[in-house]
Amino acid sequence: MSNPRLVERLVGRDLMDIYEKVIARERLTYEDGVRLFQHPDLTAIGYLANIVRERLHGQKAYYVRNQHINYTNICNKFCKFCSFYAKKGGPAPYTLSLEEVRRRLLMHIDVPITEVHMVGGINPRLPYQYYLDLLRVVKEVRPNVHIKAFTMVELVEIQRQAQKPLEEVLRELMAAGLDSLPGGGIEILSERVHRELFDRKIDGEGWMEVARTVAKVGLTQYATMLYGHIETLEERVEHLVRLRELQDETRHFVTMTPLAFHPEGTELADLPHSTGEDDLRTIAVARLMLDNFAHIKSFWIMNTPQVTQVALWYGADDVDGTVHEYEITYKDGEHGNKRQVLTRRQMIRLIEEAGRVPVERDSLYREIVAPPEELQPQRRFVPLPVVD
Ligand code: SF4
Repeated sequence: MSNPRLVERLVGRDLMDIYEKVIARERLTYEDGVRLFQHPDLTAIGYLANIVRERLHGQKAYYVRNQHINYTNICNKFCKFCSFYAKKGGPAPYTLSLEEVRRRLLMHIDVPITEVHMVGGINPRLPYQYYLDLLRVVKEVRPNVHIKAFTMVELVEIQRQAQKPLEEVLRELMAAGLDSLPGGGIEILSERVHRELFDRKIDGEGWMEVARTVAKVGLTQYATMLYGHIETLEERVEHLVRLRELQDETRHFVTMTPLAFHPEGTELADLPHSTGEDDLRTIAVARLMLDNFAHIKSFWIMNTPQVTQVALWYGADDVDGTVHEYEITYKDGEHGNKRQVLTRRQMIRLIEEAGRVPVERDSLYREIVAPPEELQPQRRFVPLPVVD
């Protein structure tokens, strides 16, 4: 937009310096990030983020057809923000056998998914061989699928079981089928939050060291930020700046996903949910700060499909996928309600209603052109039975 008066009315005089930087493709500072979080005008922040979003992706909004498998909820880390791990009064413990994993994959075999996303708790009884076999089973059932699996914390446990250097373990996991890492495990790169909420997991430095090794062996990684718990706005910006610095060094991150904290079933159940305002602002600030990340995702399960639609105008270019089962958070706060699905047609409608152009992608953002008959309403969708 070339009319400076109109721009000033849109973003406000006090954000004009950041607007100038955005237009000049200049990197924003830590202080800029804090200002963006504190500024009262959310629309102005969204406008700025949308400049970057449209510069990178135009009208496109990406989605993927994927399946999530959470192979165990037994975990010895007891993170205070986590509702997923088995505990008294919470979810019952389970570990999926390889046969059960195979069965779950076969349940959706008629859906042309391109990605299987697998994460789980830190179950010290699982031997190294289990992880290798898990990957092999997926590739046996779906030879062409991309496997995105294991947070940095799981990798540390897998290495502990393997008793080998991490680099060697990663190469063996890759040979068994691992294609990329979802990147979670640190939640927010703040030593204070780490101490208070998840001190049994590796700390920020440890997480970054694992990420460097992941980059060294040539694996792609994704990044996340869990927000809306006890972190300060300054700590959110610190997280973004540290991720940006790591990406300058490694260049192996593809996407960053801000994840809204869901308090139900956690030790922090008295905290409120993040608001739609906060979700949109966090996505927008992430887009503006992470100038070396290609994609910013609004994960519809965490943000709701409704906020995700608006987020496509606040910096997000990706909505994640069709997702068939997701057990990390529970719909309506109910344990046992693990079916969370948007069909492909619903995904397309969600994006089109928001005024963007839906583009199916694979895990590496290569565009997929599906045969038109797949879009026909008569395409069969197999409802998923609840499996305990
Ligand atoms: Fe375990 Fe992960 Fe939950 Fe922490 S967040 S308790 S490591 S499953």
